[in-house]
Amino acid sequence: MYNTNMNITCLFKGHSWNHCTCTRCGKTRDEQHIVDHCEEKCSICGQVIHHDWVKIYEETIGPNEYGCVENIDIKLYRCRKCGKLRKAVKRDLHKTEWDAEITEEDRRRA
Ligand SMILES: [Zn+2]
Ligand SMILES: [Zn+2]
Ligand SMILES: [Zn+2]
Repeated sequence: MYNTNMNITCLFKGHSWNHCTCTRCGKTRDEQHIVDHCEEKCSICGQVIHHDWVKIYEETIGPNEYGCVENIDIKLYRCRKCGKLRKAVKRDLHKTEWDAEITEEDRRRA
């Protein structure tokens, strides 16, 4: 019986990859998807491709010597796939604010 998950040729010769999908057995891999933008579906396998965030910058600000300024954690991420920047800001006792506004200064750091 023909089993698409265990194609015998793929088993011995390896998969026949057309970008992300094997043309013989239909197996997919998580690379070489065809998408114009992140968060869209791959035109070959139909999987939604998400941003692939990498942390590129991290800084903790304050408190100053008088203890006047609260601790602020700033993290900058860049998507490995499309280059989009994302900023996370965490203030004391507050939860992380994702997608904080990205300033010119952030772009210089990135
Ligand atoms: Zn295959
Ligand atoms: Zn794909
Ligand atoms: Zn992206």
